[in-house]
Amino acid sequence: MTPERFESWLKVDRKGLYCPPGGFHIDPHGAVRRAIVTHGHSDHARPGHDAVLATKETLAIMGARLGEGAPRRPQATACGEPLAIGDVTVTLFPAGHVLGSAQVLIEYKGTRVVISGDYKRSADPTCAPFALVPCDLFITEATFALPVFQHGDARAEVAKLLTSVEQFPERAHVVGAYALGKTQRVIALLREAGYERPIYLHGALQACCDLYESFGVSLGVLLPATGTKRDDLEGAIVLAPPSAIADRWSRRLPDPVTAFASGWMRVRARARQQGIELPLVISDHADWRELTETITETGAEEVWVTHGREDALLHHIETTGRRGRALALIGREDEDP
Ligand SMILES: [Zn+2]
Ligand SMILES: [Zn+2]
Repeated sequence: MTPERFESWLKVDRKGLYCPPGGFHIDPHGAVRRAIVTHGHSDHARPGHDAVLATKETLAIMGARLGEGAPRRPQATACGEPLAIGDVTVTLFPAGHVLGSAQVLIEYKGTRVVISGDYKRSADPTCAPFALVPCDLFITEATFALPVFQHGDARAEVAKLLTSVEQFPERAHVVGAYALGKTQRVIALLREAGYERPIYLHGALQACCDLYESFGVSLGVLLPATGTKRDDLEGAIVLAPPSAIADRWSRRLPDPVTAFASGWMRVRARARQQGIELPLVISDHADWRELTETITETGAEEVWVTHGREDALLHHIETTGRRGRALALIGREDEDP
């Protein structure tokens, strides 16, 4: 069958990517009547939608974070269960990015399109692993789409943190981590590495940890850093939002070693600039190899590249004989670099 030209049924309008035969947007950046939301990060899960189809975890995250802007008509769907919407069939598949994150498969007249949302393929004890979904058109993220980005093994980065904690037992280690996803992954990796002591949290990280726990992801003993005596934080690991590590907040900690868990920590200049002593390369996004291999494995003949560094990836896509297109979607400031 000749594939329907994708542009005839997948369009970019003022609100973002829109599927006319299904009557819905995917991760729209403004409020819409009907949306499919891939995951709970704020650059994908915007407030003010009427109907939202997403995993139950993503809907819970949106409910907790958006308050009055939470979806008015939430509809939960499980991964792997096809759903007829208008003239298309929609199925979600795990994206391995954060709790509840999903890719979206849309089938229309025998053509298969997969929208990756944010994804990674490396192991993460806090969410379901990425599922490879064969398709004709793959719409991919591109946050770390440069060959220089090789994330490596997150466990080795956590081992570095634990070594430093052992070396400086009188200092606190304050680790910058985004509230949704990164924080819980760092905690789970610490627990996997055998670290059983309480982990201290900046108040802004508590709600997301509670959400993960409510979905059965156990994180061990977590205590609020605020209100804990300074002496008790000697030798402790404290997680805080990135904005708090350079701020007055962390100066209350005993001689803190500042760390930051992010894919961007591969860029040493960036770590230095932010005053990070202990950069930890831990990313919830695909690196260059994962991005390029996934494109090949999907078998897609055409690839659209969303937010991120599309130039290098588009060049790569064209050298492999596929059609590539940059999807200029506004309003994509990534929450979880
Ligand atoms: Zn994300
Ligand atoms: Zn994103």
